[in-house]
Amino acid sequence: MKCPVTVIGLGPMGATMARTFLANGHPTTVWNRTPSKAAALVEQGAALAATVSDALAAAELVVISQTDYTAMSDSIGDADVKDRVLVNLSSGSPDELRRAAVWAGERGADLLTGGVMVPPPGIGQPGAYVFYSGPEAVLDRHRETLAELGDAAFVGTDPGLAMLYYQAQLYLFWSTLTAYMHAVALLGSAGVSAQQFRPLASSLLESLTGDGPMDFLRILTEEIDAGVFPGGANSLRMQAVGADHVVEAGREAGIDTAGPLALRDLFWRAVDAGHGGDGLAGVISVIRRPRP
Ligand code: NDP
Repeated sequence: MKCPVTVIGLGPMGATMARTFLANGHPTTVWNRTPSKAAALVEQGAALAATVSDALAAAELVVISQTDYTAMSDSIGDADVKDRVLVNLSSGSPDELRRAAVWAGERGADLLTGGVMVPPPGIGQPGAYVFYSGPEAVLDRHRETLAELGDAAFVGTDPGLAMLYYQAQLYLFWSTLTAYMHAVALLGSAGVSAQQFRPLASSLLESLTGDGPMDFLRILTEEIDAGVFPGGANSLRMQAVGADHVVEAGREAGIDTAGPLALRDLFWRAVDAGHGGDGLAGVISVIRRPRP
């Protein structure tokens, strides 16, 4: 028989997780602040716990998916979590996760922190993965069950790490796609459609991670790790001037320039800090040293 699982939090993510556990044959108990959200799951065979204490008593493995970490302490309060494995897959800051691990430890529970790298329809589907941090042996004990949500990628014992990886990926995702939207808006101001631009954007993004001369992901990575940012024929000063022109083009086009301005500001701060003759990777120096 499959191990019992409790799911706390039935937003789009938690409800899909509970459905996935049910579909895989786990006796599944659910609890949500607003109990009516459990109705469809109960029809599919889930047990709706009347109280959070009942939910915690129903399974050692307790998967939590709520808006944030405050929701976990709001929901659980003083309920008994001794000997439970709390797997919190909610969003939070790394320090919040570290504090939550202490909170759980003081109550005799283990906390695994996690960041799910797919939206609800992707849960349990090929390609889904989840970053986990915390006690690795505890993850290993429940890995088979948790892998039903997506591949379990253990990133370290520091409880904050799962969110750091999650946020690093999310920032890369958001900023890349937002830059794409800026580019589309810029070209759109002159009547170029997003579909017309898409093949060019696609080929640029592919080349950045390919193995040709534009493989800037590898180039930057090697330079950053070596701490050496040779500019060669592409100095950062030249690129900062170019970034000024991107801002100016946005103004002329009548579109929002907040993103390009932030980028231009970073470039010039790096130049002012003495990296004008370096390459693009010189920008990491000001990212790592925020403005006082
Ligand atoms: P939400 O972020 O809207 O979370 C909703 C759930 O949180 C509901 O169960 C809600 O209860 C509960 N909740 C919120 N505040 C409290 C509180 N103070 N006390 C008790 N319960 C509370 O929906 P999602 O399911 O989309 O996201 C869940 C988590 O997963 C979030 O942290 C999100 O960042 C993360 N995530 C989401 C992804 C997505 O694509 N949706 C992808 C990857 C991660 P109630 O129903 O009573 O309001």
